[in-house]
Amino acid sequence: MRRRQIGPGPSPMSVRDVELLILGSGTSAGVPIIGCDCDVCCSDDPRDTRTRTSAALRFVDPGGDDRVILLDTSPDLREQALRHDLWRCDAILYTHNHVDHTFGLDEVRRFNAVMQAPIHLYAEKPTMEFLHRVYQHIFRRQDNVNDSFVATIMPHLLDADRPLDLHGLRLTPVRLMHGRLPVLGYRIDALDERKQIAAEQPGPLPLAYCTDVSTIPPESWSLLTGLRTLVLDMLRYRKHPTHMTVDESLRAAGQIAADRTWFVHMSHDLAHAETDAQLPASMALAYDGLVIGDGRTSR
Ligand SMILES: [Zn+2]
Ligand SMILES: [Zn+2]
Ligand SMILES: [Zn+2]
Repeated sequence: MRRRQIGPGPSPMSVRDVELLILGSGTSAGVPIIGCDCDVCCSDDPRDTRTRTSAALRFVDPGGDDRVILLDTSPDLREQALRHDLWRCDAILYTHNHVDHTFGLDEVRRFNAVMQAPIHLYAEKPTMEFLHRVYQHIFRRQDNVNDSFVATIMPHLLDADRPLDLHGLRLTPVRLMHGRLPVLGYRIDALDERKQIAAEQPGPLPLAYCTDVSTIPPESWSLLTGLRTLVLDMLRYRKHPTHMTVDESLRAAGQIAADRTWFVHMSHDLAHAETDAQLPASMALAYDGLVIGDGRTSR
């Protein structure tokens, strides 16, 4: 992303030019899946090609600097970054430790090189332990035989009960259940100059990003009120132990009642055009490259 650096000057009150870029909208195996010739896997509709689910929140911070926060690092991160012209990454927030949400971490070393700065990584303890185990060459850098071209990460443990203020945003963890695995969604609000939730929220904010969820615990519903944008898991029609079905997602989205809901993490059971045509007016299937911005969307 080559956006202009605004530089010093009169400091605006809040973040601006906020948009959520859907980097990937597919389930863990992607769509098409290997070894399948079903209608969706063979579809000509580009929206039926889905890389693994993740997103980038792009915005200008109150100081006038461009910022990008990644929500997960999918195994397709390199391809996604190239396709969508991502040049930087200020922070990564993880939802959980599954491979389809974490196995792109190695790719962020290019952002380090371009930005000449470390990347802040936020995750709960189980996810952080997983990352330390899998990415020993990043987290135990001193043990590498050759220390060349390795991501520079500043890890921070997330407390699910404590919101995180970052670059003019408040990122509030939302506890979700992914089968029996506790995972995190995030509610994102803009802050005003007093570091309070801003009365006027720009672009798609307030926004909640809730991927890989089968049930929303009772205590989390209050964090999902008054949303302009909801991004929610929707795997397929048939029941699944760790993801919401079409019916379950529609029911939850109806209860949450965001102005606009976008579904992600779809399998090859859901053809984009056919499924999307059956959804209520305020809801739609997301697709790779979708930009959720100021009430408008663009590819
Ligand atoms: Zn997943
Ligand atoms: Zn298929
Ligand atoms: Zn998962």
